Amino acid sequence: MDYVEFRTVMEEVRVRAPNLRTVADLLRGSPLEWQKEYVLYLFGREEGGRILSISLSNRLGRDTLIWKEARDGKFSVKGAYWFEQQGRFNSNNEIWRLIRDGKMHPRQSIFLWRLCVGALPTKDKYAGESNQECVLCGFCCESADHLFMQCPLSRALWLGAPLPVKSNEVSGENLTMKVLTLVKGLSKDLRLQAMVSFAAVCDTVWNQRNAIIHGGKCGDIPSLLKEVWRKFVEFGGDKAGEVSDSRSHVVTRPLVPYQFNKMVMVDGAYKESWCGMACTMIDKFDWTWDYGYFSKEGSSSLEAEMSAIGLAVEVIVQKEWVGAVILSDCQVAVTAFDKRKCPDWKLTDKFLHILDQMSKCRDCKLVFVKRDFLTFVNSLAVQARNERLCKTFCIGEGLPPVNPSFLV
Ligand SMILES: [Zn+2]
Repeated sequence: MDYVEFRTVMEEVRVRAPNLRTVADLLRGSPLEWQKEYVLYLFGREEGGRILSISLSNRLGRDTLIWKEARDGKFSVKGAYWFEQQGRFNSNNEIWRLIRDGKMHPRQSIFLWRLCVGALPTKDKYAGESNQECVLCGFCCESADHLFMQCPLSRALWLGAPLPVKSNEVSGENLTMKVLTLVKGLSKDLRLQAMVSFAAVCDTVWNQRNAIIHGGKCGDIPSLLKEVWRKFVEFGGDKAGEVSDSRSHVVTRPLVPYQFNKMVMVDGAYKESWCGMACTMIDKFDWTWDYGYFSKEGSSSLEAEMSAIGLAVEVIVQKEWVGAVILSDCQVAVTAFDKRKCPDWKLTDKFLHILDQMSKCRDCKLVFVKRDFLTFVNSLAVQARNERLCKTFCIGEGLPPVNPSFLV
């Protein structure tokens, strides 16, 4: 009988015997015996019969509470954990086979194993309710699923990983199922590559999260991505064959005009009177890319977004780029610049200044794209805001951290 059934039965019994408190109320005499009729009256023939079949001990002096899942009857947190996780261990043998098939590096397989059984101490497991905020983005509950799949930072790393994945769109009721979804249908080699790539991403996210909480070396997104690629190579991901993946859930085409060879992705983040702005500049001619960010006081998300667009325009003017497209996920801002009409009077001055700068660019176009396509720059903006970073420009290394469909 599980807890819910037990409660239902006991609630029915309580109506008939409001004074019933303990098992002793169902017993009488010495030596002890069940009050047969009373038990049958309260619990009915079937349930009551079963209770009556329990033999009574006359030797136990005092009442004892027994945790029935443990052999010694003692409750322990560890025991409760294993009990709670039982379902996973039994039903998901496939994932354990994958993790333990011997080809993965032990360090990675142990990490993946801990991740999949839910053994990593994320805040939803141990922190008090008031202290569950994700340190990477400020989301209110740091669960394993949020931290490794949904958080903007991890989404950016998944996208920039050797096997790019839109981690927030992977289906599965828990992390284990999601990992299975990701590797389903892949050839043996590709599956190993995928596992190595996933482990590299999650491990990097976990280290970054711990570095922030416990004090340690934190990286910005480009350096974290480099870390992911380094781990991928270190743990043999590149040995298994060419990195390629044609599955559809990875690549969907955004509505970007392809004639533009220069792309600038922008995003702004706003929270508590502070704005973070970021942009990523990609030259499709030779795949070089760089990025910049800054933060300052501000009063709205729209202001952050407009400032980010301003940053992009400034870069385009400075680089003397001809024919660049700026990608923003803020429809209001995109429409505003298109119609040359400021959506908020408080931002008029900024708006006019950016318009003025825009007129200096040749063939510059501002285009709306879905948020999904700006994961990387979005995390940069959030980071700039959270850490109140000053204006910085950096050169990117490796492939640009964007949805692969942009690179076509
Ligand atoms: Zn987060």
